[in-house]
Amino acid sequence: MNLYRITILSIGNEVLSGDTLNTNAAWLAARCVSLGALVVEQRTVPDHVPTIVEALADLRERCDMVITTGGLGPTHDDCTIAALIELFGDHLVLDEPTLAHLEQYAIERGRDPNSERLRSQALVPSTSQVLPNPLGTAPGLYFEPTTGAAVIVLPGVPREMKLIMEQSGFERIAAAMERRECDVVAERVLLTAGVPESELADRIEPIRRQLPSTVELAFLPSALSVRLRLRAVGKRAEVRRILDDAVSLLAPALGSAMLSDRDERLVDVLHRKCIAHGKTLAVAESCTGGMLGAEITSVPGSSSYFLGGLICYADAVKIHFGGVRPETLAQYGAVSQQTVEELARYVRAAYGSDIAVAISGIAGPSGGSDEKPVGTIWIALADERGVDARRFAFGTDRETNRVRACAAAMLMIIERLRACDG
Ligand code: ATP
Ligand code: MG
Repeated sequence: MNLYRITILSIGNEVLSGDTLNTNAAWLAARCVSLGALVVEQRTVPDHVPTIVEALADLRERCDMVITTGGLGPTHDDCTIAALIELFGDHLVLDEPTLAHLEQYAIERGRDPNSERLRSQALVPSTSQVLPNPLGTAPGLYFEPTTGAAVIVLPGVPREMKLIMEQSGFERIAAAMERRECDVVAERVLLTAGVPESELADRIEPIRRQLPSTVELAFLPSALSVRLRLRAVGKRAEVRRILDDAVSLLAPALGSAMLSDRDERLVDVLHRKCIAHGKTLAVAESCTGGMLGAEITSVPGSSSYFLGGLICYADAVKIHFGGVRPETLAQYGAVSQQTVEELARYVRAAYGSDIAVAISGIAGPSGGSDEKPVGTIWIALADERGVDARRFAFGTDRETNRVRACAAAMLMIIERLRACDG
């Protein structure tokens, strides 16, 4: 297979030590894969010139393109440029457009446009092409030596590195793949929910055997959803057709468990459905403490249907702001069908939403009992047809329980809206 091979080199002591989570490498890898390239290695090295040079030289042997992030700033610990100069036997030259950008950048922020430190950022290796950085001071760089792997060099700050890639990095990868008439790795991801992985596997087993051997199928389980990833390698048009055919075969077997064939998350499906049905939403959250509201509002445009939420952690708040009767709490407890039903009904009326969900549970690690062990979560959904409550029995890990409670609540809303699909 004639695949385009990419390696990712993360540079920085703080990444190596775990102080900074390496989200850059994950983002870059996912985006390169979606272009059809193959990510063959990721490596992390300290801010140390000889180590960076050695890593770059080694990685260039293994791929068509190395992408580096980090160490481009103007401080003493930033030494990526020095490593590139050494690797390519290059020297620095002043890049006038970058200098003009830096002066403008400094003036806009009331800083000294003539500072030496600032101007040093306009010095770039003579053989590199500048990839402009509209959001910061250190530009990205692109090296395309006559032989061997190309190199894209990016700053460490995530939003800067992402914009540089969007504006000028990915197009260079795409162009190189085109030039070499590369094969691509293509993927389709189906989102399913509500059916365990093993049962899904049973459902699709007869279909799986009919799929061409070039289609690789993987189950990617998380919280309450399982994503099914189909992957094929070949010419772009051909693999697209193969994957489309495979999805058409799998979809009927997955039935109502399949929520999306567009590589969406649960919250994206919720978002799409609320907008499609014109239904507004409110939430009352106890054990999730606002997590559901945060998840919903992470999607741009959620203001068109999400009205708000109540974080009712304490019993007193459930009573005074959530409409739960003290007798209900005394008789059934905070984690009960009655409590979540009263919450959902009250919040729906108080917020004036079409749909309201209420979550109350024992996230753990303490607080469980024989009757209500850790992981017991009650969720109620109220809409114009009434209130529906469900009990879930999750595990013992606090964070997982909270995430699963949010997923379960979103799934209940999606299912309710699907019922309206007719
Ligand atoms: P600056 O000009 O800000 O110094 P830089 O290119 O030198 O940029 P670094 O100093 O290595 O980049 O990192 C700047 C910040 O970017 C870090 O403090 C960290 O928050 C973030 N960062 C660096 N590397 C990564 C990474 N691999 N994943 C996520 N964030 C990162
Ligand atoms: Mg830095």
